[in-house]
Amino acid sequence: MLIDSHCHLNYPGLREDVSGVLGRAREAGIGGFLGISTKRHEWDEVIGLADAHADIWATIGIHPHEADHHPDTDTAMLVDAAAPPRVIGIGETGLDYYYDKSDRERQRASFRAHITAARTTGLPIIVHTRDAEADTLDLLREAGEGTLHGVIHCFTASQAFAEAALELGFYISISGIVTFKNARDLQASAATIPANRLLVETDAPFLAPVPMRGKTCEPAFVAHTARFLAGLRNDEEKALHATTTENFFTLFRKAQPAA
Ligand SMILES: [Zn+2]
Ligand SMILES: [Zn+2]
Repeated sequence: MLIDSHCHLNYPGLREDVSGVLGRAREAGIGGFLGISTKRHEWDEVIGLADAHADIWATIGIHPHEADHHPDTDTAMLVDAAAPPRVIGIGETGLDYYYDKSDRERQRASFRAHITAARTTGLPIIVHTRDAEADTLDLLREAGEGTLHGVIHCFTASQAFAEAALELGFYISISGIVTFKNARDLQASAATIPANRLLVETDAPFLAPVPMRGKTCEPAFVAHTARFLAGLRNDEEKALHATTTENFFTLFRKAQPAA
């Protein structure tokens, strides 16, 4: 069994046929899906999907792109929204200085509110970071060692950043980007992540892995990423499935495996 630790089942491209998408994924051996929120008005829908399916869980959060549209984001609101039983993480949050879709100061304020909410609830934080390595690490370190748990999702940062994140106790999640021909640096880093800190994800409907590039990405495709990653790490595919699944439930303690 394999888990897609980061997908957006409510986004156009997947939402029109969620039962088909889930059916194809389950057929491919995907036994769990973490549905990630990016803006306030999706929270109810993302939680609703998790309520309706024993193998789907939810997170609540505001994506860094959306920080400008959510100037009132605060810790109390996030803590409150994270109370339902199927909500197992806080995010995605973080910093994106590549697209700069929101003011950087607003991104940092929103990220801080999420970090405090994660510490308050004890839930792991899902961190998105792009072209913002130094500030991301500063804010995570500010929280204090050992008090914050989480994952760097869709990892594409430097080897030095990976090492710093691992040092802070974070997990690292690898997406389909690792299968791209030009992703040599990422492939090199992905081969060195300790097995007990590794997760896999699709970030569907985005970033379909080879050999599905160009298609709408579905959670079923995480199996291609896992196969490629196992090859890269000289690992048995089955062992990588088992380890990443175990890691998922170790990090997201509030989740219970579907019967
Ligand atoms: Zn992201
Ligand atoms: Zn995402």
